[in-house]
Amino acid sequence: MTQKKKIAILGSTGSIGTQALDIARSNPDKIEIEVLTANSNAELLISQAKEFNPSHVVIADENKYQTVKDALAEFDIKVFAGSQSIADVMDITSADTVLTAMVGYSGLQPTIKAIQNKKRIALANKETLVVAGELITKLCEENHVEIIPVDSEHSAIFQCLVGENLNAIDKVILTASGGPFKGKKREELLEITKLQALKHPNWNMGAKITIDSATLMNKGFEVIEAKWLFGLKPEQIDVVVHPQSIIHSMIEFNDGSIKAQMGLPDMKLPIHYAFFFPERIKTDFKRLSFSEVNSLTFEKPDMETFRNLTLAYEAMHKGGNMAY
Ligand code: NDP
Ligand code: MG
Repeated sequence: MTQKKKIAILGSTGSIGTQALDIARSNPDKIEIEVLTANSNAELLISQAKEFNPSHVVIADENKYQTVKDALAEFDIKVFAGSQSIADVMDITSADTVLTAMVGYSGLQPTIKAIQNKKRIALANKETLVVAGELITKLCEENHVEIIPVDSEHSAIFQCLVGENLNAIDKVILTASGGPFKGKKREELLEITKLQALKHPNWNMGAKITIDSATLMNKGFEVIEAKWLFGLKPEQIDVVVHPQSIIHSMIEFNDGSIKAQMGLPDMKLPIHYAFFFPERIKTDFKRLSFSEVNSLTFEKPDMETFRNLTLAYEAMHKGGNMAY
């Protein structure tokens, strides 16, 4: 690899953002951080900016502007505040790749601007495709912009598709851990607490996605995300519960052959892959050992108890603005 990757991280203080910076920290000869943004965590944003020396830093919370500005006064870093500035910075940054790791709808506007500025999108913020899949897909086509998925299931599908561009997909099979309440029925879920919902069995993630995983809303979002990313019909997307989270997802091709991508549940892998695609760069991440995995199991999702997944399919079938 010759040129350094110039990366903007939107939501650098979150779970995905900090793991992305771990990767940047381990690859100083390959990655340059151009932009860092946060909502209100000024303290962490400041320390990240001091370490990675980006050209631009944005804090959405305008009350924190002065604190960030003062702390970085001695650095050659431009500081901005406000949600609009997170989008506007896409017009001026020289980053070539934008990691969208903000939460919810807040990621939409900056992603649109990043695409208009022809940045490659490393997409963690799935909500962008849930709320505006059609718009984003069209914009990417018009601007010849590639989206490299970071969500582990979609990264798995993307990885399985390499070298298969002539071949037809029959269906994709998204795996789901089932979350902390797998196996429970509605009546048993009446007394659950927020703390229980925030304890994901396999993944350590931000609060919103952890709650969405406990209700299977996250899987519903991922079904819609897959539809847009891979141009699929709703009936081509299956979900299977796989509690070990070793198989990150699968594709069944038209000849009946199934490809799966596997690894330990560690978001650093798909983030790393998205940064360096199409290259694979050596990592020191912990490796999967088949002698330590007792079994890989699969079961049907309980669509009656976890109605959000059913709702996502319904929304996708209805189309219109129900699912984008
Ligand atoms: P976190 O809550 O850990 O981090 C969110 C980041 O976005 C923080 O930097 C936060 O800043 C910033 N942010 C939140 N709200 C706003 C806002 N309104 N305006 C500007 N910035 C904002 O989330 P995650 O890292 O877990 O998730 C990020 C995205 O990635 C989500 O869309 C999620 O679905 C997706 N994703 C996450 C995975 C994971 O393993 N965590 C896996 C797959 C997808 P501050 O710290 O100041 O609040
Ligand atoms: Mg996922």
